[in-house]
Amino acid sequence: MTDHLTHWIDGRPWQGTAARTGDVYDPATGEVTKVVDFASAADVDQAVAAARRAFGEWGTATLTRRMQVLFAFRELVNTHKEQIAELITAEHGKVLSDALGEVSRGLEVVEFACGNAHLLKGGYSEGVSTGVDVYSIRQPLGVVGIISPFNFPAMVPMWFFPIAIAAGNTVVLKPSEKDPSAALLLADLWSQAGLPDGVFNVVHGDKEAVDALLTHPDVASISFVGSTPIAKYVYETGTAAGKRVQALGGAKNHMLVLPDADLELAADSAVNAGFGSAGERCMAISVLVAVEPVADDLVAAIAGRMSTLRTGDGRRGCDMGPLVTSVHRDKVASYVAAGEEAGATLVVDGRLVEPDGAAAGFWLGPTLFDHVTPEMSIYTDEIFGPVLSVVRVATYEEGLELINSHPYGNGTAIFTCDGGAARKFQQEVQVGMIGVNVPIPVPMAYYSFGGWKASLLGDTHAHGAEGFHFFTRGKVVTSRWPDPSHGGINLGFPTHG
Ligand code: NAD
Repeated sequence: MTDHLTHWIDGRPWQGTAARTGDVYDPATGEVTKVVDFASAADVDQAVAAARRAFGEWGTATLTRRMQVLFAFRELVNTHKEQIAELITAEHGKVLSDALGEVSRGLEVVEFACGNAHLLKGGYSEGVSTGVDVYSIRQPLGVVGIISPFNFPAMVPMWFFPIAIAAGNTVVLKPSEKDPSAALLLADLWSQAGLPDGVFNVVHGDKEAVDALLTHPDVASISFVGSTPIAKYVYETGTAAGKRVQALGGAKNHMLVLPDADLELAADSAVNAGFGSAGERCMAISVLVAVEPVADDLVAAIAGRMSTLRTGDGRRGCDMGPLVTSVHRDKVASYVAAGEEAGATLVVDGRLVEPDGAAAGFWLGPTLFDHVTPEMSIYTDEIFGPVLSVVRVATYEEGLELINSHPYGNGTAIFTCDGGAARKFQQEVQVGMIGVNVPIPVPMAYYSFGGWKASLLGDTHAHGAEGFHFFTRGKVVTSRWPDPSHGGINLGFPTHG
């Protein structure tokens, strides 16, 4: 008997009208464990209507009231983090420790959003003219839409909704249909925290639900995270419908290793960042750019470490879990075949993995290619799996040129013991998030997360001060209170002398 998941609207589970449903798999067993309703446009309309009603109260709730709910939510997520992590592992496949890490990174954003009173402060200039003061205020947008990918079912929505809610907005979240349960548990925790009904809603589904959000006249903004082709579509459709849109897309993250780097640290980092979460992270390292003469030593050190990795069921203490679906596993495996055919050296072949898990799981082990060249599809495309490619270059400049020529610009890292080289790199590289001897430089919640080029459409990155900026709009008030020094009639353009 499979569980049946439905939407969460107006503070409770809400049976939709849609005829369509999707299967939710346990990737470690290959079994369908749940069925999830797919929202129709009418279901999305119900969610938006509930959010719109709730905005009346929540949009004007005091900062203290909002903060109190956020603190209560923070405590509830913290006490339920194992339960959230178990749901993630059961539907996404990532190992439990990794799922817990994702919840912790999401919690950081909730904690950051608890500082809403500080972050929503405006400015004040007294006496810009005689008896005239100017001040700025920031107000919530209204109903905001969030559309999230499969790879971080808790953390990515949490990049956005704590801040949106702290700023006084109401939310309709459309999580990935592949792993929808974490969002429902988070919705329940919001209710327990005292969030009024309708402030946080979840609709499940696919393109139909996304399109309904993108074009709904009562949805003010869209925060999207997913692959670049869909991000482009979302950005174009949402902005054409007059919405504020931030659309975070795909990635191909390079790690540049200079000859003076600590090669043991670089090898550890390449393995951790290449194969953690089976490479299904937008900040995974998928290309290692080795500045000669270090490549032979690095490849040997990485291959040695890979031989100790245990791929298997995420509940069994393995290092790496399965891929999210069999379709995705097959797609990643097809890239391995394409790399071999194109002439790259296949050092470790993940297709030969012997997993610690059910035979029908969606397995593909860690894979390492050497002598990869920039025209190969394993170099050009986002693979989003446990495949690490080594490209050999002669100089720093050649490596930099490679990174800057790639269409994606999400994250990158440099490994070196030379501070000057690292500083030069951070200045010259065309990428949004940079690690110096740190392979997955995901910014803390009080900084903003976002890439450059094809990795982000729109102007605003996620969370941090930019998050509050995205979820509010500004007003500037120029005010004068009557006093005896009334200035008389003057039809000239106002200047503040
Ligand atoms: P995806 O683009 O397939 O799906 C993302 C969301 O869009 C899901 O909610 C999905 O239901 C919806 N969607 C799918 N097809 C659609 C369509 N045709 N029209 C409208 N909506 C559609 O992405 P995914 O496979 O779930 O996630 C992996 C991708 O997300 C990778 O490309 C990864 O790099 C990217 N990602 C980026 C970041 C970042 O911060 N830049 C973070 C996490 C994931």
